[in-house]
Amino acid sequence: MGSATLYHLAKRGVKVAGIDRHSPPHDLGSSHGATRITRQAVGEGAAYVPLALRSQQLWRELEAERGVSLFEQCGVLIMTATATATSHHGRPDFTRATLELARQYGIPHEAWEGAAIRQRFPQFRVADDALGYFEPGGGYLYPEACIQAQLDGALERGARIYTDTVIERLEADGQGVRLHSAQSSWRAKRVIVAAGMWSAELLGAPFDRLLRVCRQSLHWFEVADPALFPSDSPSFILAHGSGDSDLFYGFPPLPGENAVKVATEQYTDNTTPIDIDRNLHPGESHQLFSDQVGRWVGALSARTVRSAVCAYTVTPDFGFIVDEHPALPGVTVVSACSGHGFKHSAALGEALAQRMTTGHSDIDLDSFSLARFG
Ligand SMILES: Cc1cc2nc3c(=O)[nH]c(=O)nc-3n(C[C@H](O)[C@H](O)[C@H](O)COP(=O)(O)OP(=O)(O)OC[C@H]3O[C@@H](n4cnc5c(N)ncnc54)[C@H](O)[C@@H]3O)c2cc1C
Repeated sequence: MGSATLYHLAKRGVKVAGIDRHSPPHDLGSSHGATRITRQAVGEGAAYVPLALRSQQLWRELEAERGVSLFEQCGVLIMTATATATSHHGRPDFTRATLELARQYGIPHEAWEGAAIRQRFPQFRVADDALGYFEPGGGYLYPEACIQAQLDGALERGARIYTDTVIERLEADGQGVRLHSAQSSWRAKRVIVAAGMWSAELLGAPFDRLLRVCRQSLHWFEVADPALFPSDSPSFILAHGSGDSDLFYGFPPLPGENAVKVATEQYTDNTTPIDIDRNLHPGESHQLFSDQVGRWVGALSARTVRSAVCAYTVTPDFGFIVDEHPALPGVTVVSACSGHGFKHSAALGEALAQRMTTGHSDIDLDSFSLARFG
């Protein structure tokens, strides 16, 4: 969120600085791990669809500007593997909600029953009463490359970047905002805070009451049968029950890699940026494979070739917060993107830059206001 916002502000000629406690792209926050799914019909709700569509255009523009590859449009397949109702990111019946939005927005797609899914993509062992939504316009992004390209584009346009600099405190001073690190301080007319899982500790109330950090783990399982799981497979989300964790998602093998990245989600164990356990324990991969992946996906072996830990920062309704800080005039907060933010980040950065420079954005961000939490 920070690199996108910096880039779009710099593009508009704003005198802007980006400050980060680490050196992005890094693997200590929520934007690492090689890939992120992007979808056009966003089952989390209609308010996200314009952001996803605009972001896809912006990634393509950024690719052309920087001469890099950011977005693989391999399609996305969302499956309800049995007739059981499913939930994803707080939305019940996620596959049907996605289908309805695709129809509403005229997004190209196909709806399949179980046999059609198995025929087209035999690596998925779904039941006959499964429901599949296939969207050819979806796929995946390379998050680290997206961040780097935006930082490079911002630097080239005169933005300043301060890395390894922790902002400890923000203070409104009437005309602007003061930012304090242990060593120095800055004054800015406006500040946009995109601090991911550190947001609550930096922003205080009411964010400390609204945001939870949930540790997530990523697992790269070896492909045992490459013919059954080719690299032109779609990204996928497979739900097979009604619990938040009765679901996993994954990606095709990346070029040159004989492994498929897969992850589930958990929302029960909360942590903090300090306490988060960044080590992945062998039992975690084994459990994901035996409980979920091995049962529903063929062609993969239980051997993990790589793993990583990441964090979701979630709000009570699993939606975004993009709003002004109620107690700090001049401070806008974007983040807490509840585990589904990356695909929208380019358009959010653009919308925030529009808001800062013109007072309004082309895409309506009202659905992400704090007011909904009372
Ligand atoms: C495992 C996993 C899988 C995901 N899958 C998807 C997906 O498939 N599709 C999708 O769209 N989204 C996905 N998401 C969500 C998406 O990746 C995140 O919503 C998004 O990347 C979060 O970006 P952010 O900028 O809010 O946070 P971050 O990338 O964590 O950035 C926050 C930055 O703020 C800096 N910072 C924090 N505090 C301070 C401070 N006090 N001073 C200075 N700097 C500070 C940090 O160093 C960091 O660089 C996934 C997330 C995870 C964890």
